[in-house]
Amino acid sequence: MSATDEKFYRPRITKRVDFAPDLWMIRVNPGGEFKFAPGQYATLGVEGPQKRSERPYSIVSSSYESEMEFFFELVHDGDLTPQLYKLQPGDELLMRKVAKGRFTLDTKSSRTNHLLVCTVTGIAPFVSYVRTLYQDWKEGKFAGEHKLLLLTGASRSWEFGYHDEMLEYARQVPWLKLVPTVSRPWEDEKWKGETGRVEDILRKYADMWQATRENCVAYLCGHPEMIEHCKEILKRCGYPKEALKEEIYWVPAKKVAA
Ligand SMILES: Cc1cc2nc3c(=O)[nH]c(=O)nc-3n(C[C@H](O)[C@H](O)[C@H](O)COP(=O)(O)OP(=O)(O)OC[C@H]3O[C@@H](n4cnc5c(N)ncnc54)[C@H](O)[C@@H]3O)c2cc1C
Repeated sequence: MSATDEKFYRPRITKRVDFAPDLWMIRVNPGGEFKFAPGQYATLGVEGPQKRSERPYSIVSSSYESEMEFFFELVHDGDLTPQLYKLQPGDELLMRKVAKGRFTLDTKSSRTNHLLVCTVTGIAPFVSYVRTLYQDWKEGKFAGEHKLLLLTGASRSWEFGYHDEMLEYARQVPWLKLVPTVSRPWEDEKWKGETGRVEDILRKYADMWQATRENCVAYLCGHPEMIEHCKEILKRCGYPKEALKEEIYWVPAKKVAA
């Protein structure tokens, strides 16, 4: 067994759905046991002609599913995503055998409101939370004592990869509320929902949903600036450190250069 085989599975793509030109999902058969908690990420890679490229990706699927799902955004000048973008059903990629991350749902503290805030692909870990809780709900293992308040932001509505699925869950269960918001409504004239960035509507919905610094944990996922802005807003509301969780997907270029 080579060093690569010891550390990596070679999952095969079983399905691909392109949501928008630069946004797509894949489902893979991991090809071996892969334990994870909702909210964790897998390290995916591709063996290129010169080198192997790897990056972390939040897992969209729940741990009840036999296949794993990922939601990608193409970064045109990026290293890995242009290579992932070429892959089609039947193709293989690399996946480290161990899941990582602490961006999991906090059901141990006494805080029972969970304010989930994301931009575009940042919905991935939240889909995993919801799919898992939905399964638990149906099996009577979850009684709805935790409330999930999901605020999703994108420039235009076709970037909401999981909108219909989340809307359907929100219709069916009393413990999920969903508000998508579009920040470039002038490019999306048919959009009738909220407009503005998630940070612009965060206070309004947190107040409406009675999510407070005492009863809520906030989870911020995706765009680094969104996370920075939301964190400042929530800190000003008095949220303590232990009630703020973040998953920053990339470091803004200016900070890399500094
Ligand atoms: C814990 C974790 C989970 C993640 N989960 C996901 C996920 O579910 N889906 C997903 O698509 N990505 C996710 N990411 C980001 C992912 O790991 C890669 O950084 C991203 O796919 C870009 O990889 P790349 O090699 O193509 O670009 P790189 O070569 O790594 O980056 C090129 C440049 O683009 C910037 N950049 C990277 N990503 C973006 C972006 N989305 N928008 C704008 N600029 C960007 C980088 O800062 C860099 O300056 C996650 C990151 C972390 C840390």
